[in-house]
Amino acid sequence: MLDGDEWIINGQKIWTTGGHHADHIFVLARTSPDEVKHKGITFLLVDMRQPGVEVRPIRMMSGESEFNEVFFTDARCPKGNVVGEVNGGWMVAMTLLGNERGAGAAINALSFRAELDKLTAMVKQRGLADDPHVRQRLTKAHTKVEVMRFLGYRALTAFLNGKKPGPDASIGKLFWSEYHKEVTELAVDVLGADALTPSGTPAQTYIRSDAVGSPNSSASWVDVFLNARAGTIYAGTSQVQRGIVGEQILGLPKEPRADAGPWRTIPGHG
Ligand SMILES: Cc1cc2nc3c(=O)[nH]c(=O)nc-3n(C[C@H](O)[C@H](O)[C@H](O)COP(=O)(O)OP(=O)(O)OC[C@H]3O[C@@H](n4cnc5c(N)ncnc54)[C@H](O)[C@@H]3O)c2cc1C
Repeated sequence: MLDGDEWIINGQKIWTTGGHHADHIFVLARTSPDEVKHKGITFLLVDMRQPGVEVRPIRMMSGESEFNEVFFTDARCPKGNVVGEVNGGWMVAMTLLGNERGAGAAINALSFRAELDKLTAMVKQRGLADDPHVRQRLTKAHTKVEVMRFLGYRALTAFLNGKKPGPDASIGKLFWSEYHKEVTELAVDVLGADALTPSGTPAQTYIRSDAVGSPNSSASWVDVFLNARAGTIYAGTSQVQRGIVGEQILGLPKEPRADAGPWRTIPGHG
C-alpha cells in the first residue's frame, strides 16, 4: 500500500537465504489487489534494519540455519525503491530468475568435475574400482559432467552473442541439481559411515565436496548429500523447471491449472 512517499508492507516471506546477514531485501509485493496472479506485483528494495522487519532463522535437516523467515509489519519503503515498473514486478522477477538459473551454467561443470575426480579417487582407494555397479554409476556421472560442460559452452556462447538467459536456463538448472543428488548418493554409498566424518569449522552455504576435508572445514559428505536435496528446490523446483521446458521451449500444451479451469472464472480472463 502506498502512503504518501512510502510503501507500507505487511506480510511474510519464507526461505530467505542469508537474511540474517542482510541489510536490504528484495520483496515482491502485491500492490494492486484487483489484478490477477502475476499482474499487480511490484519489485521493491526494502531496508531490513527497521522496526517492522523481523528475521526468524529456520533450522535445516543438515543442522544449519542459513535461511530465514522474514516478517513485515507496517514496514516502510521509499516510493522510489521500485525496481522496474509499479505493478510490473513479475517481469523483473522472471529476468532475475533466468539469470540466477543461467549464471552458473558456464562454470558448473568445473566444480562438478573436481568433485567427481575426488569421488573417483576415493573409489580407487577403497578398492571398489572393480565393482560393476559402482563403475556404472561413476561412468554415468562422468557422462553427465561432460554434458554439463557442453551446456556451459552453449550458455557462454549465447551470452557472448548478447542473448539473455531465458527459459533455456531451466535445462541447466534441472540437469545439475538432479545430477548432484545422484552423485552424492553414490558418495555416501561408497563411504558408508565414514561419510559422516566432519573436520573443523562450520560448513558453508550450499556445501559442495570441495569443502570436505579442506583445512578448518567441518563439512562431511553427508552434509553435501543433504544440501544436494535442496538443490532441486531452490531457484525453482525440478517439477517447475520441467514445466518451463515443456511449455516454453518444446511448445507442449499447457498443464491444466487449478485456477483456470471451466469451474472457476478469473476476472479479466473470461
Ligand atoms: C535451501 C533453500 C534456499 C532457498 N533460498 C531462497 C532465497 O534466498 N530466496 C527466495 O526467495 N527463496 C528461496 N528459497 C525458496 C525456493 O525458491 C522455493 O522453495 C521453491 O521455488 C519452491 O517454491 P515453494 O516452496 O513455494 O513450493 P511450492 O511452489 O508450494 O511447491 C510445492 C510442490 O509442488 C510442486 N509444484 C508447484 N507448482 C508446480 C507446477 N506448476 N507444476 C508442477 N509441480 C508444481 C513443486 O515442484 C513442489 O514439489 C529457498 C529454498 C531452499 C530449499
